[in-house]
Amino acid sequence: MKIIDGKKIANEVKNEISKKVQGWMEAGQSVPHLAAVIVGNDGASKTYVGSIERSCREVGFNSSIYQYPETISEKELLDAIDFLNRDDEIDGYIIQLPLPKHINTEHVIAHVDPHKDVDCFHPINNGKLFLGEAEFLPATPYGTIELMRRAGIEAAGKHCVVLGRSNIVGKPLALLLAEKSATGNATVTICHSRTPNLKEVCATADILLVAIGQPEMITAEYVKEGATVIDIGIHRLPDQTQEKGYRICGDVKYDEVAPKCAAITPVPGGVGPMTMTCLMLNTIHAHERKL
Ligand code: NDP
Repeated sequence: MKIIDGKKIANEVKNEISKKVQGWMEAGQSVPHLAAVIVGNDGASKTYVGSIERSCREVGFNSSIYQYPETISEKELLDAIDFLNRDDEIDGYIIQLPLPKHINTEHVIAHVDPHKDVDCFHPINNGKLFLGEAEFLPATPYGTIELMRRAGIEAAGKHCVVLGRSNIVGKPLALLLAEKSATGNATVTICHSRTPNLKEVCATADILLVAIGQPEMITAEYVKEGATVIDIGIHRLPDQTQEKGYRICGDVKYDEVAPKCAAITPVPGGVGPMTMTCLMLNTIHAHERKL
């Protein structure tokens, strides 16, 4: 059984990004600039945006954080976004979700310049993804596909079962796996909370990709002997036996599933580290477009 080391692979990608940025610096050219917009004081959002800043520093990107109070009006936020759209120094930016209830998230996302939409949330970028003409890919599916490619897990000709149909993970992942492309060409089944016989369907998968947001729900019964399992879920569960008082786990019950698999991603250290790295890759694409 092969454990797919997402941390190692993400570091390889980060090194490639750093080298590219170094090359631009040595040539006297500008380096990529990623910005993040954050509204309010949500702790998890602040941690995520802090990790974006840290990753930018590591690879040599410029970064900026635009922090607004919870009370900002929709009009003021849209004005702030206009400013980011016009700023040639900024290649791409993310808007940390969720936004406060009085702000219409769809209006805000639709206001982002699609060429700067490195999260790939804008309807135009989703449409391009659907057409197989994507400028950006949503970071988690991108990270999953890139992880599989670099770990030598080929989807072509396989039956891939994608568990979860969210707009940011399950649906785009299924599209990418079915795409006529070097990393696609799979036969794809999408499952969700209304799928009858879920266990039986999952157990037909050559590659089972799980993004359901249910801690350790996927047990050995869901998995065919010799399958590959990609666990996209990430949870923090209270655990007083741990020094920190919690442990991190995925949607898959790793200890019982791993012995059945040809290959599996651990949590933490699987898909997770690839997500941030792929946000950096999208920012590289946005920067290269302007060169
Ligand atoms: P959502 O909650 O938006 O979507 C969950 C999907 O799983 C839905 O389609 C839902 O079905 C389906 N589902 C939920 N419960 C069941 C069940 N019991 N049986 C079958 N299907 C079920 O989650 P996300 O897509 O945003 O995230 C999925 C997981 O991935 C989460 O654990 C999240 O933390 C993780 N994640 C990890 C990232 C990373 O960087 N590694 C980044 C983003 C997410 P239905 O549509 O019918 O409701």
